[in-house]
Amino acid sequence: MARNEEPGVWSPSSWKGRPIVQSVAYKDTASFDHAVSKLNTLPPLVTPREIVRLKNELREVAQGNAFLLQGGDCAELFDYCNQDMIEAKVKLLLQMSLVLIYGAKKKVVRVARMAGQYAKPRSSPMETIDGVTMPSFRGDILNSYEPDPVAREPDPKRLVDAYFHSAATQNYLRAALSSGLADLHAPLDWSLGHVRDPTVRDHYQAIVERITDTLDMMHTIGLDTGGGLETVDLFTSHEGLLLEYEQSLTRLFKHPSNAAPPALPSKPVASPNKHRKTSLPTQLPPPLPPTKGYYDTSAHFIWIGDRTRQLTHSHVEFFRGIANPIGVKVGPSMPATDLVPLLDILNPGHEVGKIVLITRYGHDKIAAHLPGHIRAVQASAHRDTVVWQCDPMHGNGRNATVTGPSTDGTSTNGTTTFKTRRFSDILSELKQALTIHRSMSSYLGGVHLELTGEAVTECVGGAEELTEEDLSLNYTTFCDPRLNEKQALELAFLVAGFYRE
Ligand code: PEP
Ligand code: MN
Repeated sequence: MARNEEPGVWSPSSWKGRPIVQSVAYKDTASFDHAVSKLNTLPPLVTPREIVRLKNELREVAQGNAFLLQGGDCAELFDYCNQDMIEAKVKLLLQMSLVLIYGAKKKVVRVARMAGQYAKPRSSPMETIDGVTMPSFRGDILNSYEPDPVAREPDPKRLVDAYFHSAATQNYLRAALSSGLADLHAPLDWSLGHVRDPTVRDHYQAIVERITDTLDMMHTIGLDTGGGLETVDLFTSHEGLLLEYEQSLTRLFKHPSNAAPPALPSKPVASPNKHRKTSLPTQLPPPLPPTKGYYDTSAHFIWIGDRTRQLTHSHVEFFRGIANPIGVKVGPSMPATDLVPLLDILNPGHEVGKIVLITRYGHDKIAAHLPGHIRAVQASAHRDTVVWQCDPMHGNGRNATVTGPSTDGTSTNGTTTFKTRRFSDILSELKQALTIHRSMSSYLGGVHLELTGEAVTECVGGAEELTEEDLSLNYTTFCDPRLNEKQALELAFLVAGFYRE
């Protein structure tokens, strides 16, 4: 489809006629067909009612009444589907959300990059490990991380394995949450012994005491008897990269009773943007029975990655037809003139809270790009409909080369190169995002973080003052470096501080 043509009739498979990047060439097409047929018969992993509940909460975020916390691994592995790792991540997200509630004085919507974050876009399809060239690891849904050319071939059976690992993770999340994993009556472990600076430690300790006192007080005076402190909502999310998988879990449902009335067809927007004429015309997808919609039941929320958001390509085509709230990564390569046309395609009815713009420029580029993106949206009919979320991770990757042997990273001549991120760069991008939004009367509604509940050493800095020499101690990511539990919690303390400023 050329850029100025009308989008055609949408169906769960209409993406297939479009150009696509990051696609997969399966050699064993019979096994691939078999895997997809199996997925087509399996039950939804989440329900439209839950998806709509999240959409309603995101509407509150878009309107400035709530804050969105989204976090989890860069590449979730099937091996992470175990009780300890699931619990550690849930507890961390819960603690971070309590700190953010204290700071922003707003309800926090929690979304985990979990129970399906198995597909990874890669900058290079091939890599060389110990002199052997092989396909890059593209996530457990596609191939194995084992550094072996055969194990790195895409294996269609992994599509079905991904479904069952998502289902097991989702099942334990639901069971654990309804059995008290996130019961706020239970004391949380806030140990702050790692914070080296005593002034900072005292400051965090004071915040923890305010939070625990408030919870105790609510308990004492019976304000928590409505059951509100016994569990919390935790929604699931992943990058919707592998469209065969997403399509197979996309099903036609009656809109649940908690859904907002369908958006009215909108007229094309008279936009002051002089580039507006070159954009795709605003047009609703073809009429569905108004009582029904296609829900992607692989997760509550899926997003389009920064590499796959081309206006005329397959991913945008697929995403424009689903009823879920969706995200789009927005990096420095997004021209401000493409942003509104993209929103016109993805959200022609201007539903409030439907789209989360996940900005990820880098601490040294955000000032050059974010204001133009905010201005473009503010000058369009999408003004006040989007959620702005800052991903301070993906624009801040860097390599650290350290001497000495290591089990991970890329070793050459006694030196090892690690992909890392500096805590200070992450914090700087987040702080700039907040300041820029504030100065433009826009609302920064959330953060998107790569984190783990484990004590990994992948990002440098933070209150533990991890150095590049420390990276080899516990570097376990198979993709991007994640904040460990201490760094993630610290980031929440600092964000809470900005909101209180
Ligand atoms: C990611 O979120 O892991 C990712 C690949 O992000 P981006 O699309 O922003 O590069
Ligand atoms: Mn990542």
